[in-house]
Amino acid sequence: MENHQISLSIRNVSKTYGNGVKALSNITLDIPMGMYGLLGPNGAGKSTLMRTLATLQEPDAGSIHLGEIDVLLPQEEVRQTLGYLPQEFGLYPNAKAEDLLDYFAVLKGITNRASRKEVVEALLKQTNLWDVRKQKLGSFSGGMKQRFGVAVALLGNPKLLIVDEPTAGLDPAERVRFLNLLSELGENSVVILSTHIVEDVSELCTNIAIINKGQILLEGEPLKAVERLQGKIWRCIVEKSSLPALEQEHKVISTKLLSGRTVVHIYSEENPGNGFELVAPDLEDVYFTTMAGFDKKLVMQQEREVQL
Ligand code: ADP
Repeated sequence: MENHQISLSIRNVSKTYGNGVKALSNITLDIPMGMYGLLGPNGAGKSTLMRTLATLQEPDAGSIHLGEIDVLLPQEEVRQTLGYLPQEFGLYPNAKAEDLLDYFAVLKGITNRASRKEVVEALLKQTNLWDVRKQKLGSFSGGMKQRFGVAVALLGNPKLLIVDEPTAGLDPAERVRFLNLLSELGENSVVILSTHIVEDVSELCTNIAIINKGQILLEGEPLKAVERLQGKIWRCIVEKSSLPALEQEHKVISTKLLSGRTVVHIYSEENPGNGFELVAPDLEDVYFTTMAGFDKKLVMQQEREVQL
């Protein structure tokens, strides 16, 4: 299978848990090579989808293919082609990074000592952990642990890398380094990153989907989605006390504190007057507009594209 042909096709995937929660409702997505962002609030269904892609749980309905491979068939071929970095993973605090990675490599079936040494060394270098390879994992920072998790996930050279909410708890420098690492990996595999943080996906992801309550609300290129909001996002700065009145009158999509004042973004297809000024939209505006369901056209366009 040539790399450039690989893409992940998710068709009509649904999942209802035993307690009646419908976590995924008829999800259909086409995920090309590169870094793909799955963006949504807590409880949206991201982890359920990620675990399903990682073959850790089964959907009630639907199909998933990675290139030619049927991901939902229990076969070794699938496990070989995917790497999964869960939200939280147990580490052995007393193990040295190099030793533990070597151990996981054995589990992954790389039994030849010489080739394992080569693989482990390359991964430690790629994830920027070579200098700390003799250190115990218990001494690692959050970012170092996450990068170690990527090194483990990359054993066996997966064509699909699934990364669930990876930036929680990382400091800003670590976060940037981690996202850059994922973006590099996206150059020759499918990398899916789930997150509730808009900035995680806004710069590095070539495609994104916004998910809420088990449904895909929007799918596509972030820049195009932002473009579609051109001329519709307005801003004003108010006292906090006047917010409730403003919310009655306008489609408020976000409010932010800035030096004690409140910066309000609203969605409006016409000039709302009242001291509002037009602003250049960004992905956060797309996210909140989509979540609030204000721009029906944005979402409907999306539905048509998904059905094609
Ligand atoms: P996210 O990763 O976006 O926060 P999840 O996939 O974890 O969302 O959860 C989606 C919904 O399914 C939530 O309402 C959550 O409470 C519910 N849920 C998740 N896992 C289970 C489970 N094992 N049993 C029952 N409900 C679950």
